[in-house]
Amino acid sequence: MNASHVPVRQDHSYLQPGLVDFHYRSLALSFVANMVNAILLAAIQLQAFGPWTVAPWAAAALVVIGARWLDFRAYHRNREARDAARWERRATAGAVASGLIWGLAGWFLFPVDDMARQAVLAFVLAGMAAGAVTTLSSLRFAVSAFLALTLLPLMVNFFAAGTGMGLIMGFMTLLFFASLHVTARRMNHTITESLEMRHANELAERHTRRQAHYDELTHLPNRRLLGERIGQELARSRRHGDMGALLFLDLDHFKNINDSLGHPAGDQVLKQVAQRLRHRVRGEDTAARLGGDEFVVLLSDLGGSEAQAGNEAGAFAAELQRILSHTPYHAQGHELHVSTSIGITLFPLGDEDGDDLLRQADTAMYSAKSGGRDTVCFYRTDMQQAVNRRLQAEKELRTAIANHQLRVFYQPMVDHRGHPFGVEALVRWSHPERGLITPDHFIPVAEESGIIFELGNWVLRTACLDLARLRQRYGTAAPSVSINLSPRQFLLPGLADHIIAIAAETAADLNFIRLEVTESGLLDDVERAVEKMERLREHGVRFSIDDFGTGYSSLAYLKQLPVDTLKVDRSFIRDVLVDKDDAVIVETILAMANHLRLHSVAEGVETQEVVEFLSARGCERFQGYLFARPIPFDELLGFIDEHVPMDVQAGAGLPN
Ligand code: C2E
Ligand code: CA
Ligand code: CA
Repeated sequence: MNASHVPVRQDHSYLQPGLVDFHYRSLALSFVANMVNAILLAAIQLQAFGPWTVAPWAAAALVVIGARWLDFRAYHRNREARDAARWERRATAGAVASGLIWGLAGWFLFPVDDMARQAVLAFVLAGMAAGAVTTLSSLRFAVSAFLALTLLPLMVNFFAAGTGMGLIMGFMTLLFFASLHVTARRMNHTITESLEMRHANELAERHTRRQAHYDELTHLPNRRLLGERIGQELARSRRHGDMGALLFLDLDHFKNINDSLGHPAGDQVLKQVAQRLRHRVRGEDTAARLGGDEFVVLLSDLGGSEAQAGNEAGAFAAELQRILSHTPYHAQGHELHVSTSIGITLFPLGDEDGDDLLRQADTAMYSAKSGGRDTVCFYRTDMQQAVNRRLQAEKELRTAIANHQLRVFYQPMVDHRGHPFGVEALVRWSHPERGLITPDHFIPVAEESGIIFELGNWVLRTACLDLARLRQRYGTAAPSVSINLSPRQFLLPGLADHIIAIAAETAADLNFIRLEVTESGLLDDVERAVEKMERLREHGVRFSIDDFGTGYSSLAYLKQLPVDTLKVDRSFIRDVLVDKDDAVIVETILAMANHLRLHSVAEGVETQEVVEFLSARGCERFQGYLFARPIPFDELLGFIDEHVPMDVQAGAGLPN
């Protein structure tokens, strides 16, 4: 019995917490027994041994009982993250200490000549030993140690007494010890068995639950669990007004693998597909296997608009294809190339349910197959078209950059005298067929696709080169150059060093560079933003907040930012003379700028009346068609020559 037991304890360390817990849960009553017995024994043996022997023993007994009580309380307070091995050590130490106390009593408080007191002592110790079988038998070493420590000294004393009665009592103690020991072992066995049974039951339950919801071959969620998740996701996205997508994946010509290499090879490929999917899919998304070579991916949180959701789902599908189709699989020593056809549907669009969605995605997948395999198809043609347009736009924009079709135009900003103190760099796309395209038509695409980084760099470099030319021509009378940074660009780590490096390469003077940032780019992480801006400011770069008034525009954060100019958004300036609300907003912004000692530049100034309205409210800097439209660099030179007084130009180049 013992032999079969040891490996159980060793292999199944999962039992340890249960065993330790069993001990601590049964401990409460034993404190009362310990206290009563200790006091009783001390009182009765006091006459036989006197206070000098009994008192120290009683004190030691109280200390041990107290310590075990504290340990007991600590265990019950520490419910989380219990380290079973540590608690077992503490429990064992407690048992050994307690056994020592009772053993000492059996050794030192044994009145050789007083049979009555011997009997009391024997009773007390026997009682303690019997009690320990209940509280300690889940801990095998602890119970053995306790029994031996408690009873054996008493037994030795009985034998040593040398009398016939002593001999009999000695043997009885030994017998008692042995029988308690066997009982404790039996109880230990029973406890262990019941814990094992409980564990086995839990495992079995978990297993059945898994089998009902997970695919046996790949361990991905199965059709049933997927159905549940789709239902939840549909409800959630309807509630929150955001969109998701269902992607139906089917491996192309998978049957050939099964037919030519056998099912085990096919299974290996399926497992690898599952692994790649699992690796790529985010925690909140689901990759499931429907059966055969059909997989489904459920994507959530793709944004509020159909266009955006379609875009993201399309990009994700393209990436899945890259992951699944363009890296070979290994099965039975063969290297296999397997392409994938993907059908996509978006939700929620109407009142469709989960089955409808699966059918739609399946239909789309079949169109992908008939469209030549290894392709992605959307369920509805308009979804497809939107995504196609988007992809087309991205592609064209990339070629535009590669083929040098971008231009930087400059729009002067003037002071109250009409002198240009700065110019804003505004990018244009000189399209071979469609002519000059304004940034509103391509900046959003660039932002979403990440092309903005390349585009922004190009603008930055070009504007720096032009600034160097301006400085050469006008010296310190040159206008500063304002460059727009989109939020994604601004948030990029290392931006400050990057700008400093470009300025160094192009010999552009950082003191003449202004960066225009929108509130949305600054507010995500104000601390970071401030850090970044301070670093650039140390090199002379200044900052304007662009489109001011359209975002949060809160004083609280504005005070923290090292900016020196607010650009009042064009949308407020346009109707400032006719729209009361706009007038109030503009007045408020100008007052705010004034209060914070910031410059303000009014954008989109088209009439002299507006200039007068603004001037009357303390705004002295303007940008708009009234003064100049955005113009190519060469025209800009003409504008400056015309509008900067000759005496200032004459002073150009002077180091002031
Ligand atoms: P923005 O920064 O607010 O630029 C001012 C826009 O107002 C420019 O439009 C300018 O042509 C227009 N504008 C100036 N004065 C007037 C006026 O009197 N009347 C009217 N109706 N419009 C006026 P644009 O050049 O089309 O640029 C649009 C936006 O594209 C810019 O708005 C800016 O946010 C963005 N953008 C332009 N270039 C870049 C760039 O290089 N990088 C980034 N990230 N964004 C850029
Ligand atoms: Ca701007
Ligand atoms: Ca603006």
